[in-house]
Amino acid sequence: MRSAVVAVGDELLLGDIVNGNAAWLGERLAAAGAPVVHSAMVGDDVGRIVTAVRRALDDADVVLVTGGLGPTSDDLTRDAVAAVAGVPLERRPELEQQLRERFAAYRYEMPLSVLRQADVPRGARPLDNAVGTAPGLRVELGGQLLFALPGPPHELAAVATGGVLAEIATRSGTVALTRTLHCAGRGESDIAETVERTVTVPPGVDLAYLAGGAVVRVRLTTVAASEAAADAVLAPLVAALADALGDTVFGRDDDTLAGVVLRRLVAAGATVAVAESLTGGLLGAALTALPGSSAAFRGGLQVYATDLKSSLAGVSEEVLTEHGAVSRPTAQALALGARERLGATYGVGVTGVAGPDEQEGKPAGTVHVAVAGPDGVRAASVRLPGDRTRVRLLAVTSALDLLRRALPPETA
Ligand code: ATP
Ligand code: MG
Repeated sequence: MRSAVVAVGDELLLGDIVNGNAAWLGERLAAAGAPVVHSAMVGDDVGRIVTAVRRALDDADVVLVTGGLGPTSDDLTRDAVAAVAGVPLERRPELEQQLRERFAAYRYEMPLSVLRQADVPRGARPLDNAVGTAPGLRVELGGQLLFALPGPPHELAAVATGGVLAEIATRSGTVALTRTLHCAGRGESDIAETVERTVTVPPGVDLAYLAGGAVVRVRLTTVAASEAAADAVLAPLVAALADALGDTVFGRDDDTLAGVVLRRLVAAGATVAVAESLTGGLLGAALTALPGSSAAFRGGLQVYATDLKSSLAGVSEEVLTEHGAVSRPTAQALALGARERLGATYGVGVTGVAGPDEQEGKPAGTVHVAVAGPDGVRAASVRLPGDRTRVRLLAVTSALDLLRRALPPETA
């Protein structure tokens, strides 16, 4: 199997930047059993990109284009890919929605041009870009494959190792293996520091950090002649990292935080109940989204109004007047109330300020979570970033992570 790379951008031709993406892809594609036989650079011009891609398709079974997927008028790769495939661009509502949510999460005003990134050539598959806004594209042309990948190197790496190289490896008869550690409770750079202190990533192994929703994924990918050979390379690295990161790691590969929590509850023969203020039921929704949740989830109290925190969840008037509805003691009392009143092994309390306005003089994003269980009550207080939607979602993650830490760990 043969591959070709087309790097797009005037800045490459002008010598402003060197074509590091071609070098990076060259190494990975050779390892994936599809060595590069043709590599080209082309400026920001639809006609020239189309010509370059057609030439590359004359030479190779799979063609990878990098750059020019962004939102600005000089980002022309998606138009060129549509032209090569002979199909129109179509706006995908689900991608448009993702872009709007991403901008809302960071409280940025979204320029309309950004929506160009939701345009996909008819019949093409968008490729998730966990670290940027521009999705990649995958197009099948007869027996050939055409991929368009973002230009920024960390985005290229995230999208390429997120399935593109694996698909190429599979087609070429080699095996790509990915191992993921899911982390919560520590920031991305803090985790990266530990990772870099712990392991030296050998050549042929890619390491990527994917952050989102208060969870950081550490992903290792390698390609080898067989799954056993790939596993022999990754297993010791994964073991060393899991050891160094300790209880920051909540799961592996396809695990989710809510899934791990549910598994631990069931394994311990325990149940959980929740008392939620700012999340208004989102925590209960996250726990009940999973099949089998009835084995562990008792139910929840939506105690949004302050008086219901006392009447339904049993938070004392003293706590509410002395510390306020948004406070650690209130979260603790909510957790105890949920546990006792709903008859569960564990109770979880969540209170905070979703925003945009402050409350009780406490800024938006102030969140207190608590877990009451057989061994007492534990609590955590955080300042969460983003708008109302994001603060509420991150609050759910914080609560699930505190509960996870309170539960007996899984025995492998
Ligand atoms: P964006 O959304 O950032 O506009 P894009 O997919 O449109 O992404 P470009 O606009 O082509 O990508 O490039 C963005 C940046 O990525 C460049 O300024 C450069 O820093 C880097 N970059 C692009 N192409 C390459 C390349 N071939 N090699 C190394 N770096 C590159
Ligand atoms: Mg660009």
